[in-house]
Amino acid sequence: MKRICVLPGDGIGPEVVASAVKVMEAASDELEFVHADIGRAAYERHGSYLPGETLKSMRECDSSLFGAVTTVESADYSSPVLTFRKELDLYANVRPVRSLVQISGRPPIDVVIVRENTEGMYTQNEVFDDVGVTTMRKVTRKASERIVGFAIRYARAHGRRRLTCVHKSNVLKASDGLFVSTFRELMASGGRDLEGDEQLVDSCALKLVTEPSAFDVIVTLNLYGDILSDVAAGVAGGLGFAPSGNIGDRHSVFEPAHGSAPDIAGKGIANPTAAILAAAMMLKHLGLGADGSRMEAAVMQFYSSGHLTADLGGRHGSESFTEHVLKNLKPGPKH
Ligand code: NAD
Repeated sequence: MKRICVLPGDGIGPEVVASAVKVMEAASDELEFVHADIGRAAYERHGSYLPGETLKSMRECDSSLFGAVTTVESADYSSPVLTFRKELDLYANVRPVRSLVQISGRPPIDVVIVRENTEGMYTQNEVFDDVGVTTMRKVTRKASERIVGFAIRYARAHGRRRLTCVHKSNVLKASDGLFVSTFRELMASGGRDLEGDEQLVDSCALKLVTEPSAFDVIVTLNLYGDILSDVAAGVAGGLGFAPSGNIGDRHSVFEPAHGSAPDIAGKGIANPTAAILAAAMMLKHLGLGADGSRMEAAVMQFYSSGHLTADLGGRHGSESFTEHVLKNLKPGPKH
């Protein structure tokens, strides 16, 4: 049995996570669920947005499924997401984006963005001075080697051919320069079976929209990966379509790439696709690949049958979408 820590969080987090848990329960008899608080509910019950008990559960379980949290505008607020990524050393953020629906005027996309998840602009080291604020941006050789090495292994293991390093080393010559030179070294020593490519982040954003087939797997720094994965999700139909995995050597946390979407929370129209695909990624990561694949197939069948969710102008809200996915789920072998 695999133990999954379930962290619904805020806004639409509980809505899409509930849907993903239903589909996982139907897809696999190898799972046990442990529920834990994060975000506002955690603050109200335990006085912390990420209580120690929650972090303990995340460490003890085989993996975690997280919804989203709403950022609180307060000087003493620190992001539970950045904290668990750091505490659990989840250094790779994997964001696959694939078109499940043909959308008029948008090209098909099938790209995986592998984002460095521990440093860059996300160390939250900001210092006020007389003229404004200085933000420290950290790029280390160790983190660059870890993420590029991860991306090479990921591309190979998933049958991908091309790995593109995305950076801005024409301006950030030292820091992004270190990232690019690490990429070149690792590709020359351990990635020669893959096609290596390099692209500046601004033109990458353009190409993701106009010619996404130019990309297969992208490896990039933290902030670029965060932004580019939302651009890619937009091409595929919106944030409801982009799953994400935070992966380290010992722990992992899977989540939809979107936030808590307060504008649609409680309306029953959040698209659970990203959360279900994130759960499927988690099962594959845990060695339950057949169960994960059946979940993906059930989601794909919903769209290939011509149905559309509310975010694409269709009539299916979260509940009716989930019912269809459960009906589409092919029975698996009993373990
Ligand atoms: P968001 O991702 O929550 O929403 C952006 C837009 O996409 C909104 O219009 C929303 O309705 C739509 N959307 C997102 N997910 C959807 C889904 N599953 N189905 C249909 N439509 C969906 O981003 P935001 O509005 O910039 O941020 C809202 C809050 O979420 C903020 O407090 C932000 O800090 C937080 N946030 C949290 C995380 C996280 O917990 N990992 C990530 C990003 C943002």
